[in-house]
Amino acid sequence: MLEKRDYVDKIIKKAIKQTEKYKDIGELASYIPELANVNPDSFAFCLVTVDGEVFSYGESEKIFSIQSISKILSLIMALHDNDPISVFDKVGSEPTSYEFNSLVPITDKATNPFINAGAMTTASMVKGANVDEKFERILAYYKKLSSFEDAYLIKDIYESEMETTDRNRAIAYYLKSKDIFSDNPNDVLDLYIRNCSIATNVCALAKTGAVLANKGYKPKTKEKLLSKKEVQIIVSQMATCGMYENSGRYLMEVGIPSKSGVSGGILGVVPGVCGLGVYCPRIDKSGNSVRGIELFKILAKDLGFTIFIN
Ligand code: GLU
Repeated sequence: MLEKRDYVDKIIKKAIKQTEKYKDIGELASYIPELANVNPDSFAFCLVTVDGEVFSYGESEKIFSIQSISKILSLIMALHDNDPISVFDKVGSEPTSYEFNSLVPITDKATNPFINAGAMTTASMVKGANVDEKFERILAYYKKLSSFEDAYLIKDIYESEMETTDRNRAIAYYLKSKDIFSDNPNDVLDLYIRNCSIATNVCALAKTGAVLANKGYKPKTKEKLLSKKEVQIIVSQMATCGMYENSGRYLMEVGIPSKSGVSGGILGVVPGVCGLGVYCPRIDKSGNSVRGIELFKILAKDLGFTIFIN
């Protein structure tokens, strides 16, 4: 066991070193002012195996907002609260070449649950008497999935985004105008932005990934948090739609079902093996962490993580 641990640790450390050359590439997301208020050089990585073994590196306890990775959470809650067929009656399951906050991929429904319009649609399907209750349910579920009991809403991020979220407001009203949901668009938007503002760290991401990698069971406690059907839906959508308009290329070059967010985090799932979390806030034009992608690419090759070659 120790021998294996040493081997994995050595490979990860080498991969991290190899990605140092990317550390100045990319820009901080600044369209949400508070997102630019971070150290651009921060770096953290965590791997959690399906047996619950944790490998963590860099600033692994550093808090950042989960952003688009929360789209996994609203999809999970929508699937818990509704049958999958009715969820996908309202949101599509196909990738898009348009950016995450575009209105173009909304026809009779949003193209997939991992663009903003799709995540607002799944948020509108979460049960609860009001926005507070719906958000509390989502946050409580995230605490379970991630084992991050202290997860909370980052108020500064939430307020900063609420002040500058005209595009998302337009999306919410457009979805309502197309009868995709009947709720008040301001409430749906509020819930969506709260979800994006959840505090996380890389180990919380990797532990969530480990539940998905472990057929929905929490490593160690073996608590069942997701059905196999839910895992199949979420991981396949991560593979095809999780990395914005770069999802196809990423799947081809990296081959790890992943979901990224504009704060610089990526959550990866290696089915049957482990969950991964990386944080490095410089992102590319699509919204993906530049160094994060390079690290996953090397690990996919050196640890055999690509799902296509086993
Ligand atoms: N809160 C961000 C937005 O809606 C999330 C974007 C992202 O991480 O893709 O613009």
